[in-house]
Amino acid sequence: MGGYRMVALVKQVPDTSTKAGVNPDGTVDRARAKRMLNPFDKFGLQKAIEVKNAHGGEIIAITMGPPPAIEILVEALEYGADRCYLLTDRRLAASDTLATAYALHKAVQYVGPADIVFTGLQTTDGDTAQTGPQIAERLNLPQVTYCERLEIKDGKAKARRVVEGGHQWLEAPLPILITVANSASKLEHKRFANVHKVKELLRNKEEMSKRIFTIDLDVIGAESGRTGLVGSPTVVGKTWKLGEIGGSCHMLSGDSPTHNVEHLMLKLKEDNRGVEELIQ
Ligand SMILES: Cc1cc2nc3c(=O)[nH]c(=O)nc-3n(C[C@H](O)[C@H](O)[C@H](O)COP(=O)(O)OP(=O)(O)OC[C@H]3O[C@@H](n4cnc5c(N)ncnc54)[C@H](O)[C@@H]3O)c2cc1C
Repeated sequence: MGGYRMVALVKQVPDTSTKAGVNPDGTVDRARAKRMLNPFDKFGLQKAIEVKNAHGGEIIAITMGPPPAIEILVEALEYGADRCYLLTDRRLAASDTLATAYALHKAVQYVGPADIVFTGLQTTDGDTAQTGPQIAERLNLPQVTYCERLEIKDGKAKARRVVEGGHQWLEAPLPILITVANSASKLEHKRFANVHKVKELLRNKEEMSKRIFTIDLDVIGAESGRTGLVGSPTVVGKTWKLGEIGGSCHMLSGDSPTHNVEHLMLKLKEDNRGVEELIQ
């Protein structure tokens, strides 16, 4: 097969248009929440489709999540992915971004060398935007974050990224990892032909098993202790409902970022509130 081999990372998140449940300990009750494909990941998927339409190739969608996350892989097929992998394992539960990026980079390596790895900019639940860059580091790939335009020519990527107050063009040889901005494309609807094909596939378990594969940590050769709570150094100090914070908003308007930070430190001292207190 000619063209480019692309991986699109997609995540299932709680549907923000419905009320997601919150457990008494402040964590999201993912079992109760309605689920959806992270909206930002559609842009990554679409960029991959655009590259495939222009140059040919293959799109492999990967998600890490509990078994119901297979739903978004079916959706990825409907959008135009060629095949998909669900990385699911109880030892992944409670993974922070360090552990998530570790597991996902092993999964990307497992599916074979990719010319381009696409991720969304961020998720609507964790919202850190850290996973893509961490995966690039682990795979030792050049990365372009906030990418909105991408040109691929002669084994090179030329990408325009959004920066504060303007744009920046970067160039790098493939392979590369790209986190795609939501200003990158106007999202296209799923093609009827794809949706129809997937509907047929869903009726044929054997054919479906050739398009969606389920893998676990042993299959991808992950080291033990690198995922889940044991592999996650992040400690969530406290979570609370936004409505409970109250208080008023005070805009800092200094003439430089350094001045703003000094101003903020002063304000926190005045209010007798340190960072430690904020997270207690
Ligand atoms: C202590 C702690 C415990 C946690 N426990 C859980 C838990 O039990 N279950 C849980 O779901 N989350 C849990 N989380 C949240 C989890 O760490 C993050 O959701 C995850 O690391 C990804 O970070 P993010 O959501 O901020 O993604 P971002 O970094 O904002 O995502 C950027 C892009 O990376 C890709 N990406 C991110 N995550 C995935 C994924 N899973 N599969 C494929 N692509 C992906 C997508 O393309 C996405 O657009 C926990 C977090 C902490 C700190």
